[in-house]
Parts: sequence; structure tokens; C-alpha cells
Amino acid sequence: MSERAPPRLFVEAPLRLGAAVTLGDEQSHYLLNVMRRGSGDAVLLFNGRDGEWRAAIGETRKRACVLHVEAQLRAQTGLADLWLLFAPIKRQRIDLIAEKATELGVGLLQPVITERTVVPHVNLDRLRAHAIEAAEQCGLLSVPALRAPIRLTNLLERWPEERCLIFCDEGGSARPALEALSDQSPGPCALLVGPEGGFSDHERLQLVSHKAVVAVSLGPRLLRADTAAVAALALWQSVQGDWRHPSKM
Ligand code: SAH
Repeated sequence: MSERAPPRLFVEAPLRLGAAVTLGDEQSHYLLNVMRRGSGDAVLLFNGRDGEWRAAIGETRKRACVLHVEAQLRAQTGLADLWLLFAPIKRQRIDLIAEKATELGVGLLQPVITERTVVPHVNLDRLRAHAIEAAEQCGLLSVPALRAPIRLTNLLERWPEERCLIFCDEGGSARPALEALSDQSPGPCALLVGPEGGFSDHERLQLVSHKAVVAVSLGPRLLRADTAAVAALALWQSVQGDWRHPSKM
């Protein structure tokens, strides 16, 4: 039995004592060939519903293996009711947003098409793979939901009124984010970050006139979209989220 930390894998299958989980081609390859594990070795599994379980590798074939679920190590905990709305940006950076937002506890990732969005197509499978990998690497018990891209106008038209929409506004006239977030009553929230070219004046007007929207400034410097997303998420977790409590790692 190797004393290295057991690999962690996200699976869709239900996890309960005695269950047998059959891994597909890719995960089997990762486990057997990349992580060089074999029969009897431990693997940690989570599925976003049943908490984290220890399993043992059973029968292995070339590109398939069966895991036997043995014990629950951690009970399931929920993600913050926090959405990140972001305009699709260049490939590496949008991958970074999916990864960092997952690590920062976002519950839902929603790509938003804005007037200055230059990247028309979003590869949701790739973004989901980055989110899953971040969750596996960072000991999370859930993976954020990922929705198909939506136009900003359509998003605002059907915005759930109980959810606050924090608009990261690079326009320069918004309230300091810490002050604005500190005034927010706790509850469901979404953070919105624009594309490389920022928001248009028309979009800014549309946003600030929406009853659920609070415009915030992330300081006097213009941040890249991925930087703004991370900064806003860290601030939200500090002021409204689970960074306020002593962390039980
Ligand atoms: N042109 C730069 C910056 C783009 S701004 C680039 O090439 O990346 C990208 C988004 O980040 C903005 O639409 C806004 O949502 C957020 N942002 C950046 N700087 C900000 C600031 N100082 N205050 C509030 N939001 C900011």
C-alpha cells in the first residue's frame, strides 16, 4: 500500500458502503498509468451529493478498473449560494476563471455574452473539466454547476429578484466593493465580470438601473478579467462567505 496521499476522483455514481464504481477509460488511465496505482490501493471519491468516501482499487484491466467503496470520510457540505457571471475571454484565461472560481467556492459558473465579448464560443466540456480538476486537487466535495452562455440582456430580463447581482464596474464611479458588500444583507448573490474590453455605456446603464444590481469598484487600477473575478470572489468570501469562520480544513 503506497503511503502517498491517495488520489481524489470526482465520479457521477452514487457512493455508499459496498458500492462498486466502475471507472471509464480516462479516469482508469489516470489512476493506473499516471498515478501508477494498482489493486488494493486507496482512492478518495466524491460526487457532490454523498460526501467523500475511501475506496479500494479492485479488478483492473488495460483501460478500466473497478473501485470498491469502503468508508465515508467526510459528510457532504454545500457550496455557497454564489454565482460567478463572466464574459467569455481568451482560452487560457477563461480556464483560469473556471479553476479559480471553483477553488473559491462558487456554486455556479455562468458565461455571459456582452457587447464587447470577442470569444463567441465557450467550450463547456473543457471548462467543466477544469472545474472538476480544481475540485479534485483542492479537496472540495462539490463541483460548481456550469450553464450555457446567455446574453446579458436576457439574463437581466429573467433575473431572480431574491438574488443580488454585484456588478464589477470598471467605469470608475461605483462604490468601493468592501463598503458595498458590507452593506449587503446575507443571501443568494452573483458576481459579474466583463470581457477584455469592459462593459459598454449602454450595458452600464442597463445594469445600474436594474433593481437587483449593486455596482462596485475593485480599486483605482484596471484589472484583467480573470484577476477581477478572483479579487471579487475573495472579497465576497471574506465579507459575506465562509472565510468569516475559522476554517476546518
Ligand atoms: N482591458 C483590460 C481590462 C478589462 S476589464 C483587459 O484587457 O483585460 C475586465 C472586467 O474586469 C471589467 O469589465 C470589470 O468587470 C472588471 N474590472 C476590471 N478592473 C476593475 C475595477 N477597477 N473595478 C471594478 N471592476 C473591474
